[in-house]
Order: sequence, then C-alpha cells, then structure tokens
Amino acid sequence: MPTSHDLFARAQRFIPGGVDSPVRAYKSVGIEPRFVDHAEGAHVHDVDGNTYLDFVQSWGPMILGHGHPEVLEAVRTQLERGTTYGAPTELETEAAELVCAAFPSIEMVRFVSSGTEAVMSAIRLARGFTGRDKIIKFDGNYHGHSDAMLVAAGSGLLTLGIPSTPGVTEGTAGDTIVVPYNDLGAVEAVFAGNPDQIAALIVEPVAGNMGCVPPAEGFLAGLRALCDSHGALLIFDEVITGFRIAYGGAQERYGVTPDLTTLGKIIGGGFPVGAFGGRREIMDRLAPTGPVYQAGTLSGNPVAMAAGIATMKVLGRDGVYADLEEKGKLLAAGLKRAADEAGIPASGTQVGAMGTLFFTSGPVTDWKSAALSDTERYANYFRKMLERGIWLAPSQFECCFTSCALTHEDIENTVLAAEEVMGELAVESFRAPGGG
Ligand SMILES: *Cc1c(COP(=O)(O)O)cnc(C)c1O
Repeated sequence: MPTSHDLFARAQRFIPGGVDSPVRAYKSVGIEPRFVDHAEGAHVHDVDGNTYLDFVQSWGPMILGHGHPEVLEAVRTQLERGTTYGAPTELETEAAELVCAAFPSIEMVRFVSSGTEAVMSAIRLARGFTGRDKIIKFDGNYHGHSDAMLVAAGSGLLTLGIPSTPGVTEGTAGDTIVVPYNDLGAVEAVFAGNPDQIAALIVEPVAGNMGCVPPAEGFLAGLRALCDSHGALLIFDEVITGFRIAYGGAQERYGVTPDLTTLGKIIGGGFPVGAFGGRREIMDRLAPTGPVYQAGTLSGNPVAMAAGIATMKVLGRDGVYADLEEKGKLLAAGLKRAADEAGIPASGTQVGAMGTLFFTSGPVTDWKSAALSDTERYANYFRKMLERGIWLAPSQFECCFTSCALTHEDIENTVLAAEEVMGELAVESFRAPGGG
C-alpha cells in the first residue's frame, strides 16, 4: 500500500504542488498532506491507517458528516437514472423551492457548479442591473477565485502570503475597492468618494476565510442602510454560512435582508454546487428572460441536486440547529479554557457550527487583528492535534467546523487532546530561546 508520502511525491510530478486547491498542500503547517482513503460520519481515514475526527468537513459542505444514509440513498437512486442530461429536471425546481423557503430574500435562484461561479455570476448580474462597474469588498473576505474577487482575498492567499495575484489585470483590480471588515466609516467614505459608481457591496456576513470573525453589532444593518442610500445592491456571500449558522443563514440569524445571496458548499451535499438568488426583478435580468448572460453544462446536475435536496431536508428537521449551536459552544469554550489554563494567549470566536481559536489575545474583529495571530504556534498546535487524531484546518485563518455527526464525547475528547497539547506548547515556548 502506498503511503501519503508516496502518493504526494507521485502527485507532485503531474499536478502543480500535488494538489487541486492550494491550502490542501499543508505548506503553512510544515508537514505533507495526509491522503484520504475513506470517511464515514465524523471520521476520516488516511491511507496510512490513521483515523481522525473531522473538523474540516471538506471545508464546509459535510455538515451532516460523511456518508449520511439519506444522502447516499438519494444519490444511488439518481445514479441509476442518469447522471446528466443537459435538460431541465424536477430535482432542480425542488432544490430551488427548498432554497427559496429557507431564504425569504431569495424569490428566484439559479444553480451553478461552485461558489466561485455563484459569486462571479452575482457580480455580473449586479453590474448588469445597476449599470455601474465598481464593487466594494472587505479585506480578508474570500469570494472564490474569479478575477474581480482576488484582491485582498482571505485564507488561501493569506496563508501563502500572497497579497494579490498575478494574472488579474489592473483594470479588473481597479474596479474592486477593498475596505476593512467591521468598519462602517470606511464603507461610507468609499460610497462618498465614488458617487453613482458602486454596483454592489459583497460581504461574508460572518467572515469565515480569515478564521471565523463575526460581524460587529449593527455592522450588517449599517451596510444595508448605506447600500440603500447609494443605490447599490447588497450581496451576502453565504457560501459558508448558508444552512450552517442557521437554516436560513446569516440573514435569518441577524435579521438583515440582502438583495442577492450566494450559496455553495452545504447545498451540494458533498457534490459541486453553487447558487445565487434574490429578488425576482433582479433575477429576471438573467438570460433567457433578460440580457445578462450566464450558463453551465453541468449546472443543476441531477446527482448533485439529489444530494443537496436530501441534505437540506435533514437539516430542516426540528432541533438540528440547536444541537449544532450547543456543540459549537462546547468546543469553542473547551478550546479556549485549554489555552487559558496553559497560559497561552488566545481569542476564541464562534457562531453556531463555525468557530476559530486565534493564537492572539484579541479581540479579533478584522484582518489586521486576525493577522496578529502566532501562526507558528498554530502550526505546532495543528500538528500535535493531528497526532492525537484530531483533523483541524491546516491554517490559522480557517474555521473549525462542527457537524451533526460529532458526539458530545467526540468534543470532550477533542478538548482533552487540546489540554494536553496546550500544556506542551506552554513548556516548549518556555524552553525556546528568548521565550514567548
Ligand atoms: C468557499 C467559498 C467560496 C468559493 O466556493 P468554491 O466552491 O470553492 O468555488 C466563495 N465564498 C465563500 C464565502 C467561500 O467560503
């Protein structure tokens, strides 16, 4: 049996960096990635024979855990009937009805194949609808890898220390204006300095790509008011938060209504799906009803729709989000307590089934304060937790996701592991030359 090391060496000969998405390469945590053999429930098994509790969940989609029986059944049934037709199916309408019921701001929705595509299309639609060019985004928010959104763009780039990327033209970058998260004054100044030019403001209503950073009190409502007074569309990028921090995402949780919403991750039930939706008058501007073009060979893929529908239905049952909230709180409190008891400076954030333990005394409210984290210490923490069978995100600037599949005992064991690890980190930093 080839080991992770063997497979990584082979992959690097044919795939840049050996991975199809950069953070999977584990560069910032100083070890080689583990190659996965299989996963079920809350557990992932690598090809080297190790078993881990999964807090990455494929970066968000697997909120039910791996191989949920109802999702598997829906997928198997659809596989027998065909995997793609390039023609409409009832499944797409059923998925659309579920999304619209969950998000009252979404009257119509279109399905695509990734979160990147959802955001890219929503931006084009916002420009087409308003007849304006410029977009406001926040430092440390990630909205996928389309050109306009790859400016000051969150975890993947932050982890690799890439401020912005070659290949994006100055013209494109110039239409994207970046402001600090949770800073309404900065947003107001940009609107004032670009009268009648801002098509849309896009925000992660709870940031999840610089680690989990919640919106300050009144921040989202303030954005709503500013967009209204300047005739710009407000886009909530709920690719992570949708169906994660509440069934109806951040807009349900915080009671603020965007014009457009982007979704992804969870709504595909582990398959490649994204979606964007909003008010009918805006969505009607899309082809074929309107002039704004957008299309996709595998959009609304029936197997992916079947998985997404099954996932949304399970999540819609009573008690699911109360349970996720409780587990999220238990984990966040346990990890913070472990750090405190060992005298390790740390600041914890948590909103429902997402959270981050930052290795900085905090508070963490934006990218600048997140970046004060001790990433060397995080890497050390990550490696020691992995040795104890706990699979965390391989970067300080990602979320720790809780899932329905985790038991309270799993969380207790994770906290016990963290207590051991924090103790070791404290001893090591005491011994390290210069201390600290
Ligand atoms: C993951 C993510 C995206 C991009 O989704 P992909 O499916 O990876 O293209 C966009 N926005 C947010 C907030 C995300 O977390």
